[in-house]
Amino acid sequence: MSFPKKPIDHIQQLGEGVAARMPPRLEEIRSAWQAACADGGWTSENARHLYLLLHRLVGCSAQFGMSEIQSAAQAFEAEVVANLGEALDDAKRRRMDALLEKLMQVAEKKIKLRLPDLRAHINAIPSVRDSRASRLIYLVEDDPVQAEILSMQIGYFGYNVCTFTALESLRQAMEDTLPTAIIMDVILEEGFTAGPQAAAEIHHSQSGGIPLIFISESDLFTHRLSAVRAGGEAYFLKPVDISQLIDALDRLTAHEETPKYRVLIVEDSPTQAKLFENYLRAAGMETLVVRNPLEVLQPLNEFNPDLVLLDMYMPQCSGMELAAVIRQIDRFLSLPIVFLSAETNTDVQLGAMQLGGDDFLTKPITREHLVRAVSSRAGRYRKLRDMMMRDGLTGLLNHTMLKDRLAAELLRAGRQGSPVAFAMLDLDRFKLVNDTYGHASGDQVLKGLARLLSQRLRASDSIGRYGGEEFAVILPDTPGQAAVRLMDELRDGFSNVVHHSSGGDFTATFSCGVASFPRFVTPAEISDAADRALYAAKQRGRNRVVFADDLDEMKEG
Ligand code: GH3
Ligand code: MG
Ligand code: MG
Ligand code: MG
Repeated sequence: MSFPKKPIDHIQQLGEGVAARMPPRLEEIRSAWQAACADGGWTSENARHLYLLLHRLVGCSAQFGMSEIQSAAQAFEAEVVANLGEALDDAKRRRMDALLEKLMQVAEKKIKLRLPDLRAHINAIPSVRDSRASRLIYLVEDDPVQAEILSMQIGYFGYNVCTFTALESLRQAMEDTLPTAIIMDVILEEGFTAGPQAAAEIHHSQSGGIPLIFISESDLFTHRLSAVRAGGEAYFLKPVDISQLIDALDRLTAHEETPKYRVLIVEDSPTQAKLFENYLRAAGMETLVVRNPLEVLQPLNEFNPDLVLLDMYMPQCSGMELAAVIRQIDRFLSLPIVFLSAETNTDVQLGAMQLGGDDFLTKPITREHLVRAVSSRAGRYRKLRDMMMRDGLTGLLNHTMLKDRLAAELLRAGRQGSPVAFAMLDLDRFKLVNDTYGHASGDQVLKGLARLLSQRLRASDSIGRYGGEEFAVILPDTPGQAAVRLMDELRDGFSNVVHHSSGGDFTATFSCGVASFPRFVTPAEISDAADRALYAAKQRGRNRVVFADDLDEMKEG
């Protein structure tokens, strides 16, 4: 299976595929209705068939932002459901006829407009982490209610979910577009182990390329075994623990998202710099070249490299001197520094190492050698740094790191004249959660929130655990109002996530305060303002987002 380079193109292609299949889908619905509304045609089989077709249309149009088609199909679907098992009189027939016509009308209009429409939808979700946008999950669950609940919950974590209540529609969709992963119910209407059987087929035809997760009410050994034989990589009992499911999805689809090492190249010769850049970029790393060694401090702070490649001989200062300067700064004490030079004298090489270098690569250097030396050191450093910078429970940045980032982002914003938003979050009545469901469940909630934030925000946003049950987020290039809308979406999403515990299922909420640059300028000002807004959100009843600017207006007015 192959993916286009840019995820946005991918969504667009998916959407075009969906739009292209729309006319035959609508025709299918029309003929299903004609069969069902004929005299004696309203059998439970015909009605169910019509319902399934409508339901599929609702799912897929929702997925691709065709909200008018979605609501028209939903209205029709609701009427069909209401009349399942009932007799169909003329009044009902006329009502459903009208609903069908309405659906056909909006669909026709939309299909003509399909491209601009889709772009608008894509533009409306800029904050969802880019690489996630292509994460399409096919969920096969024959119970429409369960399917909807599960797909909504998975959706909150930044995956796109298309649900199917029947295997046939899954097969059709697979011909259109392959998903990133499949979640499949074991027991389906089609049979006792219909899920695994269908999955085994798919697994073979796709040579096992698509990760497969099973969900089931059944803990029977035979069911578990059939899932393993079908190539299933995980098996979850219902009710599915959403955090475990997301963990599995992340794990199984992770290969798309290996971290890119960032390498800062300090080299005065443009041709050599270009060459090293090409080598490292071809290996999937991000690079930044600094020609003048005297200007290295700012990129060190902002590019935040995993490794520095230093030329030994530069006109302004030597690589050794520069390494010593970098080592004077505490936070760069363990940053790997690798020298590049034509120097073959081992005494000079040793001297360079004493001044803070970690390795010495002799020019001319081969691509393989450079990539291997850089990635092994950068990888080790990243692990070490992650341990120092991150909170053990959630994997988010710790308080100190987040404060550092805030200072750096504010400086950058000041220079570039761009906005920055800062949000503080605090879980509501969290003591009560701990007291009612236990500390371990409380920890699960903290992890769940961390995961939701990490998955829904952009890679350029910084997310930290500020302490206990408090979190903070830095959103570069985001005006305050936009940040408020985004945080409110996340707040709403989180409040719908169901947490499981031995003491029962429950939901949790957070309150949030947002403040932004340039209204507030220093790290202290902006975090005080966000804190005051957070306090106001608590005062006003919790589970809400308050913007610091509105707070001040109220005081003045
Ligand atoms: P409010 O809505 O006013 O914020 O109420 P609250 O109960 O959330 O606030 P309070 O500050 O009284 O209590 C915070 C609670 O968070 C108390 C503490 O036990 C809990 N907490 C802090 N850190 C952790 C943690 O790491 N794990 C768990 N499970 N609970 C934590
Ligand atoms: Mg089932
Ligand atoms: Mg608190
Ligand atoms: Mg709290």
